[in-house]
Amino acid sequence: MHPIPASPAAQTPRSPGSGLIAYKVAGIYAALASGWIILSDMVVAGRSHGSPAWLWPEIGKGLIFVAVTSVLLLLLVRHYLRRLHDAESLRWAGEPHFRSLVEQSLVGVYLMQDNRFVYVNPRMAEVFGYSPAEIVQQLSVSDLVAPTSRDLVQENVARRLRGEAMGLNYSFRGLHRKGWPLQIEVFGTRIEHQGRPAIIGTLLDVTDRFEAETALRESELRYRLLIQAAPDAIFLLDVERGVFVDFNHQVELLFGLAGEELGRHGPVDLSPEFQPDGRRSAEGFALQVARAVSGSLPTFEWVHRSRAGREIPCEVRLVQLPAQGRTLIRGSITDITERRNAAEALARSEENYRTLFELATDAIFLCAADGRLVDVNRHTSQLTGFNREELLQKTVYDVIADDDHEYLRHCLREILRDGTRFSVYRFRCKDGRVFPGETNTRLLPDGRLLAMVRDITERKEAEAQRQRLELELRQAQKLQAIGTLAGGIAHDFNNILAAILGNAQLLKMVLPPAHEGQGNVSQILVASHRAKDLVQQILMFSRQREQLREVLQLEPLLKESVKLIGVSLPATVRLELVIDPGLPAVLADPTQIHQVVVNLCTNAIHALRTGGGTLRLALSEVSMPEEDTSSKPNLPPGRYVCLTVTDSGHGMDAATLERIYEPFFTTKPVGEGTGLGLAVVHGIVQSNDGAITVSSRPNEGTTFKIYFPAQADQPAKAPRQVEELRAGRGQHILFVDDEVPIAEVARVMLTKLGYRVTVCIDPRQALEHLQTDNADLALMMTDLSMPGLSGVDLIREAMRLKPGLPVILLTGYGNVIDTKAAVELNISEVMHKPFTMEGLSAAIEGALEEHR
Ligand code: ADP
Ligand code: MG
Repeated sequence: MHPIPASPAAQTPRSPGSGLIAYKVAGIYAALASGWIILSDMVVAGRSHGSPAWLWPEIGKGLIFVAVTSVLLLLLVRHYLRRLHDAESLRWAGEPHFRSLVEQSLVGVYLMQDNRFVYVNPRMAEVFGYSPAEIVQQLSVSDLVAPTSRDLVQENVARRLRGEAMGLNYSFRGLHRKGWPLQIEVFGTRIEHQGRPAIIGTLLDVTDRFEAETALRESELRYRLLIQAAPDAIFLLDVERGVFVDFNHQVELLFGLAGEELGRHGPVDLSPEFQPDGRRSAEGFALQVARAVSGSLPTFEWVHRSRAGREIPCEVRLVQLPAQGRTLIRGSITDITERRNAAEALARSEENYRTLFELATDAIFLCAADGRLVDVNRHTSQLTGFNREELLQKTVYDVIADDDHEYLRHCLREILRDGTRFSVYRFRCKDGRVFPGETNTRLLPDGRLLAMVRDITERKEAEAQRQRLELELRQAQKLQAIGTLAGGIAHDFNNILAAILGNAQLLKMVLPPAHEGQGNVSQILVASHRAKDLVQQILMFSRQREQLREVLQLEPLLKESVKLIGVSLPATVRLELVIDPGLPAVLADPTQIHQVVVNLCTNAIHALRTGGGTLRLALSEVSMPEEDTSSKPNLPPGRYVCLTVTDSGHGMDAATLERIYEPFFTTKPVGEGTGLGLAVVHGIVQSNDGAITVSSRPNEGTTFKIYFPAQADQPAKAPRQVEELRAGRGQHILFVDDEVPIAEVARVMLTKLGYRVTVCIDPRQALEHLQTDNADLALMMTDLSMPGLSGVDLIREAMRLKPGLPVILLTGYGNVIDTKAAVELNISEVMHKPFTMEGLSAAIEGALEEHR
């Protein structure tokens, strides 16, 4: 506590006024006293002594008395003056109990004069953080005033001192000793203090109240701003009265009402009578309010109605507010019209997409980033055979073939990088089927993947088919070109060959068997045969030669071919022939069968050439479907004659096997293989309604099987015996060919065969001969294409001149004349050049026999 300060007089420096008065009083007294003494002595002395001598001591005693009493009087006056001063000082401080009241006052009390404090009570000192003595002795008034208030205080003090009328109190910012501001309310009154104007007053520290008020004001302002700036409509509801007591602008906007008018309404008046749940609004809202009052924070959807009658779906949140004397609820309303609309639009769009998803004719997968299937559409189930539940247990790796997993991983990496990818995977179905699926995958913003898959099996097949057709077309075009070429050269070539082959054969006959030239002639013959075969092959292949099918037994044909093959068989190759007895006949072209056997055997011999081994030919009857299904020919059920050609040669690998029937496919060096052999075999087998199968492995030999449909009910034509040279009996033959070497060879051969021959190298000459001398003519053999008159024209003339004359047509071309025309022209035989003596002999015998 502050020490009780000394009395105001003690604090006040001694004023010169009071001392002066004391001296003045003492001086006046001394003058009066010494005057009176002198006068009284003079009166006493004059009356008794009458002489002035005794006067001087009396005067001295009087002076001493005056001096002493003057000093005493002076002291007395001083004492009283002091008492008087003190009494004056305490006139305002009152009695001692009043003084203690001032000292203890909770209000600051001050006396100021000349911009200094004459007195301050302890409370005042405490307000500013000083002691009273510090304030009185050390500070001026402005030291206790904050700079912002100094002008105000100074002006007010000046006006008060001037006695201008003004209010008793005012506020200013004070300054605490520690530097913080104070809010001070001050009262003051002008007084006279020691003869000069001063101000006495009280002072209150209202800092706390001021700050609280300020804080309240600010808080109120913040609350207003907060409410006004809120996007939601916010209101305070007086529950008892059911009206809004406060609201922000959003509420006004929401309901289309403003200010006081809105203040006359409550949420229930601004709602339709019934809520969508069928409850009366009044009851429904009361229920929510009750919940809020009981302490929960209800949030609910509510339909309000604006003044204009518009129904507004809202979300309302209520909370009770502390309030005295009434129940206040704070509510916030969010207009959810847009949210509703958006939700509905979203739901609609969801539904549309779902429909699209389900109706899509592509399979659609939605999968998580780790590949798990999250959603699939109906078509996915149809395509894969797995139902929806099964699919949702799987990952993409389960529905894509293992072989494609590496590719899938690669694609997934690219999708993550680029966001989208187009790929074709092989998908695995429940039944094990695998189909190619064209897949368009997209990375969704949520990291999942959406893939649309289309089964492109058909397209792939169509593509493959197109490629096959294209290839076939190219082959056909190639073959056509070859055919044209072959047709062009075959005629000349065959004529040349006929001369070579014929002459070689004749030479072989005339040379003694031991002649050293025999070997060379044999070589010429072999080479010529090969050349002949080659031309045949090309003609056959390019379909230049007409197929002449007849019902026949395969056995003699096979034996005949084997005989020819045997000639060129290397010593290291053993030939086996196994023919089941009683085989049914087949419908086939004998030349073609011969070609098939020769081609297969040639290949087999090639395969056996280096290592040697066995070539086995077999004929057997089989029934389709065959018990042994290893070869699986694609044939309708029935009986078939099967030709098996097996060799123990080097065999073939899978890659070769795949391509052996392709025309021009060969693994043999140039000059050795043409790649036509198996292509021709294949073509022949097909055109005879048969089938061919092959089984082979590297170093394990090869087996070809050829099936011909059996012709059970038709009698087979007796085979021609080509190998025996039938001796003629001098019958007259007219031989017509414009090629001199051929004509010459034919003349020699026919003569050697025992016939009488007339050779014409000009068809017109032949015609003449027919007209003049035809009586003993037994047969006419004519070339087809000759200058001047064609073979066919010549035959027609011959028919006219000598009906019934057997005719053999010779040709160097492939397909020259159809069977019908041949019958019409009475052509017994079409012979292909080059011919051998055996061929000639057999053809002539056949023709003569027919006309016997
Ligand atoms: P070429 O004999 O002119 O090569 P082919 O069409 O006759 O033409 O045969 C095609 C290919 O088939 C041959 O080059 C050969 O590789 C293979 N081939 C055919 N038959 C056999 C066989 N019996 N053993 C091994 N390979 C064979
Ligand atoms: Mg071949």
